[in-house]
Amino acid sequence: MEYFDIHTHRAQRETGVTGILSLSLTGDAPFEIPEDQQVSVGLHPWYATIGKLEADLYRLEQIAGRNNVKLIGECGLDRLRGEKLEHQLTIFKTQLSLAQALSKPVILHCVKCFDELMTVQKELKLKVPLIVHGFNKHPELGRQLLAKGFELSFGSAILNADSGAALLLRELDSFFLETDDADCNIQEIYHAAANLKKCTIEELKARIFANWKKINLI
Ligand SMILES: [Zn+2]
Repeated sequence: MEYFDIHTHRAQRETGVTGILSLSLTGDAPFEIPEDQQVSVGLHPWYATIGKLEADLYRLEQIAGRNNVKLIGECGLDRLRGEKLEHQLTIFKTQLSLAQALSKPVILHCVKCFDELMTVQKELKLKVPLIVHGFNKHPELGRQLLAKGFELSFGSAILNADSGAALLLRELDSFFLETDDADCNIQEIYHAAANLKKCTIEELKARIFANWKKINLI
């Protein structure tokens, strides 16, 4: 069974690993997405601007329905970077509506905006799975997100056994793992997770694939 990396920015592929390459469709360059690779496409809150939303969204809509686009995003909210929050919310919500229309799960970037994130989820009555990627906050916040139906993905933070991510992961059955842009590979992350969960890598792979099957709606 393969390793599954739900969120990576590394285009290079590896045998034994199924990865979802995250691409931001912002910017002026003509966009080409690999057709034989699983990807997520979205407007990243660091780069998306309200001024270009219409053009960016048009481009996103042309691509988002393709079969190899497994997730919409990463998109979301970031209090420390990008447009002012009001604009980020507009950009974010249009992508959530698109995901909803296509029945595709969303991979979320959220920095210091968890209250806003939960409000948006409630307001839009979203049915598609929403995965908070790179979660490494206090376990209590994680529990709160899970209780509201969010999914969580953990990255290199779990290599530190005292991190909020590692503490929370110990008690969870359903979660994802990712490399994001970290300087380590997915095998190391699985290894750390297996230690925290006191299970084998094979058990972990089976569990994560089952979780993925559950939320991969089409
Ligand atoms: Zn990322």
